[in-house]
Amino acid sequence: MPFDWSRTRIHCPVDLESPGRRCGHLLLPWSDNSNPLGGHPVPILIAAGAPGPTLLLTAGVHGDEFEGPVALLDLWRGVDPAGLCGRIVVLPALNAPAVRAASRTSPLDGANLNRAFPGDPDGGPTAQIAHMVEAVLMPGSDAAVDLHSGGKASWFHPCALPARAADGTIDAANMALARAFGAPAIWLLGSGNDARSLNGAATRAGVPMIAAELGGGGAIDPALVALAGRGLRRIMAHLGMIDGGPEAENADAGVWETADPALRITAPLDGLVEPLAAAGERVAAGQPVARWLSLAEPDRAPLILTAPRDALVLATGRRGLVAQGEIACQLASAVDGAQGR
Ligand SMILES: [Zn+2]
Repeated sequence: MPFDWSRTRIHCPVDLESPGRRCGHLLLPWSDNSNPLGGHPVPILIAAGAPGPTLLLTAGVHGDEFEGPVALLDLWRGVDPAGLCGRIVVLPALNAPAVRAASRTSPLDGANLNRAFPGDPDGGPTAQIAHMVEAVLMPGSDAAVDLHSGGKASWFHPCALPARAADGTIDAANMALARAFGAPAIWLLGSGNDARSLNGAATRAGVPMIAAELGGGGAIDPALVALAGRGLRRIMAHLGMIDGGPEAENADAGVWETADPALRITAPLDGLVEPLAAAGERVAAGQPVARWLSLAEPDRAPLILTAPRDALVLATGRRGLVAQGEIACQLASAVDGAQGR
């Protein structure tokens, strides 16, 4: 179904409806000293073929996560509209002001886009982007994938993130997308997942969707870019948009959840945190996962932070010097006795 751009102040000069491959920039109206009367550009790319499903692909929701933007630019460049059933609509730097600043949050208003949904057409720049996705792009899409990573602050074991909806209607479709993506792990978001996220927008629209976490550290790992590229092409094949697609991988990926707050291991006080377990590693109850050291009290014995139960190390902090309450590592527990890596 055509996108209804009358619902947003954001201007789209790119034809997203007819067959072909095009790109350009949305113009986000936000009058400040950097851009008083123009618009802040947000890149948008389209590849459309024969009639078929619309797949919405986003990255750069957080501006310091760079694996996703690279994977999406590569994917678009490699898609031949002549062999495509449906269309991919690609926003590789959705929160473009944040991406240009290599910042998790927008320098225009300090907001985190993944906590800004459903957004506001008359709000600040981040709220306007969220509303544009919620009210224009998501209702015109049949499936969505949103690529993330740990950003500068952390590093994530590569995983796909399907959400469970309160009414369960799209749970199976979300899990099928996660299996098609083929990352080494599946991080299942509970029905209590933050509704202010892009996942929340998809759930409200009844659109099957996964997010993905792909490493991080504010860098770009080519192996993870390639993994994302294979996963996206498998999802396109799963949706019937292309023939074939890469061979399935990680069919035995375990399913993990983080609902228990005790699985988030945080710095007990300001200081230094050294990870003692790597993302992707399995740890046993009581096993050390990080070490905290004090700069304020140099002679104080280091504190050993341990896993409260058997778990997967889903992510580790990458900052080194941290404030009290910052993440040292995020653990995940197996869902329904799921095994796997
Ligand atoms: Zn992110």
